[in-house]
Amino acid sequence: MIEQYDSELSMPSSRLFSCLLIIVGLLPFSFNLSYATSLEDTIPNNIIMYHRFGETKYPSTNITEEQLDSHLNFLIEQNYHFIQAGDLLDPNQLNKKTITVTIDDAYLSFYEVGLPIFEKYQVPVTLFLNTENVGGFNYMSWDQLRDALNRGVEIQNHSHTHSSFATLDDETIISEIETSQSLILANLNITPNLFAFPFGESSDAAQKIIETYFDAAFGQHSGAFSMNYRYYIPRYPLNENYGSIDRLRDISKSLPFQSAQLQPSNPTLNPPSTRFVLDIEEGVNGVNCFISDFQGSIEKQMTVLENKLLIELSRMPVSGRLRFNCTKVDNGIFWYGHQYFLN
Ligand SMILES: [Zn+2]
Repeated sequence: MIEQYDSELSMPSSRLFSCLLIIVGLLPFSFNLSYATSLEDTIPNNIIMYHRFGETKYPSTNITEEQLDSHLNFLIEQNYHFIQAGDLLDPNQLNKKTITVTIDDAYLSFYEVGLPIFEKYQVPVTLFLNTENVGGFNYMSWDQLRDALNRGVEIQNHSHTHSSFATLDDETIISEIETSQSLILANLNITPNLFAFPFGESSDAAQKIIETYFDAAFGQHSGAFSMNYRYYIPRYPLNENYGSIDRLRDISKSLPFQSAQLQPSNPTLNPPSTRFVLDIEEGVNGVNCFISDFQGSIEKQMTVLENKLLIELSRMPVSGRLRFNCTKVDNGIFWYGHQYFLN
């Protein structure tokens, strides 16, 4: 059973829905499907993320105005619907193909450069806000955040000090959340129900605390959206270096596996390891994985063992972020991603 390996996939009922979907899909009549949750995994509902706009000094977190224009033009041409992060909790919003645009850190360049472009295309966005920097050099002020909120930007929580949650103790995590939630309430009169981990770095312990304050949480590792990873939902980063239309075409139409889970599942990997097991409900045949850390891509050996993929790295990953991107092209691009943090 997958469940015994798996702390993140705790929703066996979703699997029941998936089975129902397969049965319904085999019937010769088309139904008016009111149980839209079952459609989630067959229609792409992906999330993209940006940080800075028109700040070409920072190509790994920036997007140029021309690139953003081309992204939005492409997505509109392809008939994507744009929904905000909060809408992802509503299965009725997911029965058509959607893109959710998220922006982290509330840099001034979002307000001055990005937001007017999103408004030009009438694309609603979600901003993940770390509160300590508000009003600081090159960051938005509370006045600007209030204005953005009034203009329809959804504002959610991205911690207070923007520290990595992978290594903070419980008490500090609670203080990060409570400080930022109360500042947001005091200044914007809203209470965020979603959280994005700073640097996308997380741990099982951090996720347990986040679950008590928020309805879902996001990383910043690539991967197709699925509610199977409710407290570590992937988002595709787009920046100057990784911002081509070809990449956007692939990620926008990518689909999640019914369930996929890498072991160990704890996103903070301690001790470091070179052995991982990927378990995919619909099987691992044809799946390929790209694995990288701060030193670049890591060679690996992959062996199928009892319908699971045993992945052995050719070297020990270095400290920092270790990313897995496992994909299968089969009538669509199925994409599972996971990010570890190593001390
Ligand atoms: Zn951030």
